[in-house]
Amino acid sequence: MSGRNTSEVHILCSPGQLFLQPLWDQLRAWDSLTQSPLFAVLFSITTYVGFCLPFVVLDVLCPWVPSLRRYKIHPDFSPSARQVLPCLGQTLYQHAVFVLPLTLLHWARGPAPWPREAPELLPLVRHVVCCLLLFDAEFFVWHVLHHKVPWLYRNFHKMHHQNSASFALATQYMSAWELFSLGFFDMLNVTLLQCHPLTVLVFHVLNIWLSVEDHSGYDFPWSTHRLVPFGWYGGVTHHDLHHSQFNCNFAPYFTHWDRILGTLRSAHAK
Ligand SMILES: [Zn+2]
Ligand SMILES: [Zn+2]
Repeated sequence: MSGRNTSEVHILCSPGQLFLQPLWDQLRAWDSLTQSPLFAVLFSITTYVGFCLPFVVLDVLCPWVPSLRRYKIHPDFSPSARQVLPCLGQTLYQHAVFVLPLTLLHWARGPAPWPREAPELLPLVRHVVCCLLLFDAEFFVWHVLHHKVPWLYRNFHKMHHQNSASFALATQYMSAWELFSLGFFDMLNVTLLQCHPLTVLVFHVLNIWLSVEDHSGYDFPWSTHRLVPFGWYGGVTHHDLHHSQFNCNFAPYFTHWDRILGTLRSAHAK
């Protein structure tokens, strides 16, 4: 395959691959960055902080722009610097002390070379949806356990509940064990499904966005739970209720597990 030129690659590609091939070629051209041992940790932290920043700006503007408050779940709440800075510090600390060594270990085992061909569009979408559903189920079980067993709650999950009114940078304010568990579920699913590296990147970006949106404290007309039909997706309003009431809405994204186990509570029924 190494001797093929671009037109030969395109002849071999299906229409679904052709759609993603230019993007994939661009990413592959940055291999000095993407194959570096620091890529995973840089990707994770810049994506997370990049998604949090717009909400941080909105939180700063909110006291001066009253029209923004109509989108806030808690209109009178604005996180103070004393709340925001420890969250940012915890994220940077955990990435330096836990995530970086783990990703270096993984890289030292020999980074898998990226394939030349992009994935097909439909399998990419199918894999991303499967990964999200699996992650949702795994975290649901973890989350219920860590609320029902007082020792687990005290030692591993209480930290994440320190902010009853949530804000974007509180998303990753959690114990090292909780962060490790989330990372493990995240990696387990893409490995089980043998996802293409582009699918893995898309899933990670989407997963980070959805978790930040869950904690943002803003319910916009374009929030994910308003775009997914039939109430299948709980999103920011459901997870905010979990932070204030503790005993409901344990699934991070979808509503089916809480509905089956009777722990679903609608934000409108407050
Ligand atoms: Zn919880
Ligand atoms: Zn949370």
